[in-house]
Amino acid sequence: MRLILLTLFPLLLQSQPKLIDAHVHHNGDPAFLTKFHDKLAALDAQALLITLEKDVPSVQNFIKSHPNRFFGIGQMSLDSPNALQLVDMFHNAGFRGLGELTGPEAAYDDKRYWPIYERAEKYGMILIFHTGIVNRRNFAEPQNVSSDRMRITTLDLIARRFPKLTLIAAHLGNPDYAWAAELGRWNPNLLFDVSGSTLYKKQADLAYFKSIFWWDGVVSPHTPKTNISAFEKLVFGSDIFNGEIAEFDRELDLYKKLLKACDVPEASQQNVFNGTLHRILNK
Ligand SMILES: [Zn+2]
Repeated sequence: MRLILLTLFPLLLQSQPKLIDAHVHHNGDPAFLTKFHDKLAALDAQALLITLEKDVPSVQNFIKSHPNRFFGIGQMSLDSPNALQLVDMFHNAGFRGLGELTGPEAAYDDKRYWPIYERAEKYGMILIFHTGIVNRRNFAEPQNVSSDRMRITTLDLIARRFPKLTLIAAHLGNPDYAWAAELGRWNPNLLFDVSGSTLYKKQADLAYFKSIFWWDGVVSPHTPKTNISAFEKLVFGSDIFNGEIAEFDRELDLYKKLLKACDVPEASQQNVFNGTLHRILNK
């Protein structure tokens, strides 16, 4: 039946949603999925759903019975001894990408991780990287974690070496915003979400981001000519975790305030909220 519908009404089933959330952590609770699905449906929205390996079968079933709302994103460690098999498994399960990649034992661009990026590129995946400062939960527990290995600059080589990958750098490299934007200016396959503490930190000075995404209408040496607003390097991401759905509304409100404070045109705002990811997910 679904096949017939897909054949007859492809445009209907792929119609552009009003919003796509690029960064949602599934906490493994089926009640969360149902609740968040209903919220998305009410808003005509979709979400990339960051999912642990153990939750793949249940998420697959949920997506089958609630089509056109969620795209699976496989959560894995870059240092897993089974990393390549995991990439294959997520792809075979219909997942569209990997993430949120975090806590690597070497810098993201270390050559040891290239086979993973190569495999993901073959599948046309979206990779969501945690970038910049990372939280520290259990102060008593020794950790092999360093924010320095997750600096935004470590994505430059990956974006250039694997041009068919789409990279979403979560948190805009907090606090290396200026570096993030410059890397985005030269790497069309590098996008950002500005979830996390950044918009809270900067909420009294949101126009600051004009100095980071500075190149709208500016002719400068070697700058690729474009009519696309610099702010279109951003995609919407809420970073819901632990089932905290209220974070979605808070982030959405802050994104709207940011784009307004920076005088971003309506058409460009639409690309931030849905257009850019819709095109990537349906190409
Ligand atoms: Zn993160």
